Amino acid sequence: MPIPIDQRKKPTAVKVHVKTGAGVDITWADGHESHFDFPYLRDNCPCATCNDERGKKQTFAGSNPAPSAVLPMFKPKPRAQSATQVGNYAIQINFNDGHSTGIFSYDYLRSMCPCADCAREFRSATT
Ligand SMILES: [Zn+2]
Ligand SMILES: [Zn+2]
Repeated sequence: MPIPIDQRKKPTAVKVHVKTGAGVDITWADGHESHFDFPYLRDNCPCATCNDERGKKQTFAGSNPAPSAVLPMFKPKPRAQSATQVGNYAIQINFNDGHSTGIFSYDYLRSMCPCADCAREFRSATT
């Protein structure tokens, strides 16, 4: 199946700093460089489970205060234990909390690049 190539979403270099925990660095075909921290990636994990959890949190937030807000559970800072290339379109990250179903497509990663330029370009509210 031919996929139209968007230079902005095609990586030319992908570095996953598993050992140092520094996160993921991607250089894109249009020359742009993105850096993603592991906690940021964990929070934005695109898998169905995490999508569900994010939805639930939003639902409960308005109704009653969650007990966990009073006694926050200790959570280690998310890090990656390993990362795997998935074809040429995505990376899969195994996080240190045992979560490994998140497959981050480059398309998705570019659209969630935390820099201001990409926020304007990919996440602006304009049509
Ligand atoms: Zn997930
Ligand atoms: Zn960016």
